[in-house]
Amino acid sequence: MASSSKRKEVLSTGKDRDVITAPPGGKTMGYKCGNPECYVRAIEVPLKACAKCKTIRYCSRECQAAHWKRHKVWCNHNTDHAQSLAKADAEANAFGFAWNIPDGVTLVDLDQKLEKWVKFHSNLLMAATIHALSLPRDIKRAKMFFLRVKVSYRPDHKDMPSKFFRVNDAFLIDIEEAKKLGSVWTASIEHVDTMRAESEALRRGSVAAIVPFGSLKDLSPLKIQNNWKEILIRDVERGKKLMRFEMAD
Ligand SMILES: [Zn+2]
Ligand SMILES: [Zn+2]
Repeated sequence: MASSSKRKEVLSTGKDRDVITAPPGGKTMGYKCGNPECYVRAIEVPLKACAKCKTIRYCSRECQAAHWKRHKVWCNHNTDHAQSLAKADAEANAFGFAWNIPDGVTLVDLDQKLEKWVKFHSNLLMAATIHALSLPRDIKRAKMFFLRVKVSYRPDHKDMPSKFFRVNDAFLIDIEEAKKLGSVWTASIEHVDTMRAESEALRRGSVAAIVPFGSLKDLSPLKIQNNWKEILIRDVERGKKLMRFEMAD
């Protein structure tokens, strides 16, 4: 039987999910070795995935070893998370009850759905982040804030990834503040830092999902939309890919 504190933790990951989004710091996109100090690309040498978490790839054992100190937190977080979800699902099955999550949905399932949802709405989430952080005004804010997006599961999604979740709220969160929110956040922030360094955006099995971002070079002519939250909530609700980030139809 799970203790009440454990159950609470499972409930909080099952019901109310967070997605944090962060802009990139890197210059180039595309697959390269996961070691930020190494510039070997996948087209030059076949990259091998970290056997434990499979969310990062390296050109060599040397690079993997060199990066391990930084990757460790994220790697352990990913594998622990995947295991705890599977375990909670197994317990729910064995005891004949579910963790207050929608019928016929498992935590593992929810996690995979979150990943697909983030992928579908990545451009929209990126646009919302750019506007929320007012990046055209001050690009340095990219390193000071995240956009924290609160989402909940939509049982009426009809197998459309765009409609797996609904945005309940979104707000800026200071990076220092975010670090105090617990290990998921610390691991995610560490991961964002890694991602910044390597401009690589492969990730899976995490409560706090991170959106892959493109280049931020040409932001200056962009007019900041102050109603970015309304636009984000509305566009996710519609389940369409981002066309233009604005309120007018
Ligand atoms: Zn390498
Ligand atoms: Zn790993």
